[in-house]
Amino acid sequence: IVKIDGVSKRFGDTVALHRLDMSIRAGEFVTFLGPSGCGKSTTLRILGGFETPTTGRVILNGRDVTAEPPNRRRVNMVFQDYALFPHMTVRRNIAFGLELKGLTRPQIAARSDDLMGFLELAPLADRLPDQLSGGQRQRVALARALAPDPDLLLLDEPLGALDAKLRGQVQAELKSIQRRTSKTFFFVTHDQDEALTMSDRIVVMSKGRVEQVGTPEDLYFHPASRFVADFIGETN
Ligand code: ATP
Ligand code: MG
Repeated sequence: IVKIDGVSKRFGDTVALHRLDMSIRAGEFVTFLGPSGCGKSTTLRILGGFETPTTGRVILNGRDVTAEPPNRRRVNMVFQDYALFPHMTVRRNIAFGLELKGLTRPQIAARSDDLMGFLELAPLADRLPDQLSGGQRQRVALARALAPDPDLLLLDEPLGALDAKLRGQVQAELKSIQRRTSKTFFFVTHDQDEALTMSDRIVVMSKGRVEQVGTPEDLYFHPASRFVADFIGETN
């Protein structure tokens, strides 16, 4: 479904991403893992169309979308701080993207109700974001991103703001949502435990380069470099 073909990104003298190549199958849960500044967010932003690569191409469903803006791709992004609209209720936050897409009122209501049921948000439909817990906000952000039915969901450290207990709970939820929807998820984290428990495949990055791509088992039992071994073996 996704092909990343020799993608690089420079900001002035900084090489944020150095010739990334990879293919991702539909329904895969792929995690970009690595320390701060290694190019994780840059990679997601390029896939989402929020940033143009300096070289290389991004192919989505067989179509070259490298030069296409975010709204022309069937891709959606969940940001670390959720970026919910503070003055809109839960229901409107979820419906907003559907209104922009020009769906009819009954279609929008049906789709929003479905998602709120699915993510157990129905009792919270009329609340504002600041009347929700961190985990509830995270679910609203997810519902909003899933609403337009994207092929690809990009999640940039979406659990960063949660405490340890809630984080474990939301990790499990997120994984089960991904399974039930069979969507392709690109997840970014610097937390190796999170990556190991959630991913089908992990891309370990360091300084804009890919150190290793593999299943959690591959990385854990057969790290390709000292960097990967140290990073995976680190405890928080
Ligand atoms: P973190 O875990 O801290 O979020 P990251 O892996 O997401 O880090 P990126 O945000 O992708 O890292 O940044 C990669 C590199 O590119 C960094 O050196 C960063 O300073 C640089 N960079 C990112 N965006 C810009 C920009 N708009 N202008 C200049 N440099 C940038
Ligand atoms: Mg980042």
